[in-house]
Amino acid sequence: LDEKLKKPEWIRAKLPNGQRFHEIKQILREQKLHTVCEEATCPNIGECFSKGTATFMIMGDICTRRCPFCDVGHGRPNPLDPNEPKHLAESVAAMRLKYVVVTSVDRDDLRDGGAQHFADCIGAVREMSPNTQIETLVPDFRGRLDIAVDILTQTPPDVMNHNLETVPRLYKQARPGADYAHSLQLLKDYKAKNPDVRTKSGLMVGLGETDEEILEVMRDMRAHNVDMLTIGQYLQPSDGHLPVLRYVHPDVFKMFEEKAYEMGFIHAAVGAMVRSSYHADEQAHEAGV
Ligand code: SF4
Ligand code: SF4
Repeated sequence: LDEKLKKPEWIRAKLPNGQRFHEIKQILREQKLHTVCEEATCPNIGECFSKGTATFMIMGDICTRRCPFCDVGHGRPNPLDPNEPKHLAESVAAMRLKYVVVTSVDRDDLRDGGAQHFADCIGAVREMSPNTQIETLVPDFRGRLDIAVDILTQTPPDVMNHNLETVPRLYKQARPGADYAHSLQLLKDYKAKNPDVRTKSGLMVGLGETDEEILEVMRDMRAHNVDMLTIGQYLQPSDGHLPVLRYVHPDVFKMFEEKAYEMGFIHAAVGAMVRSSYHADEQAHEAGV
């Protein structure tokens, strides 16, 4: 029974290639910046880098949490790099990105969970690239919700993304240290203070949830005024990570997508290879950002 599920034919990653892909890799090395694309071994890396899209991971590559689906390293994080906002801004400018996703590991060790560092990064990018749109994919700021919402209300991104990742029944197992109700509250509070900023959240399928549980989470998101949705297939980064319990069929993704629009999401990116930041620029533009 330990045998792994066979990957169906619709799970496909395109091989990285192209001039732009290598150019971007080079810039990232020079600026010592981390991307989720690389750290999380995202299957879309070839396509995204070639298109000039990337998701930057700020505040280091060591997380204070240990989610068993996630490929990011954990342990004691390094101190914040005060030059990081500047390096990020320079990279975004050098890469001529029109749309950038900025995310971070979880920093439970910081007084504000890293909210001010996010704000500094937004500020630095805005200054050097005033026409670049910024999406922040934030950690849950658990225990620091109010202060984080205040800081990111003073310096707002164009899209505020926070992933619920999975259904509440699987939180203990898949997201130790996180809390479903808290994550929903963060999204709701942010929207209440920033009605013009689009809020966004995402889910993985294949961790043991049912379709009905996914629909229930989607309803919860709408009840907390989440504007945009992503759903994608969980893929096991290594044998040490949670196993894939099912590969969701494209027809079921289609059903989730249709339901999402019925429920009132402004945009839904739903499909096996969808990641939170996959085609984030197109998602945002289709959502009127
Ligand atoms: Fe990077 Fe997101 Fe594209 Fe994956 S989907 S390569 S994480 S930008
Ligand atoms: Fe990975 Fe985020 Fe969990 Fe940290 S909090 S282990 S970065 S999913």
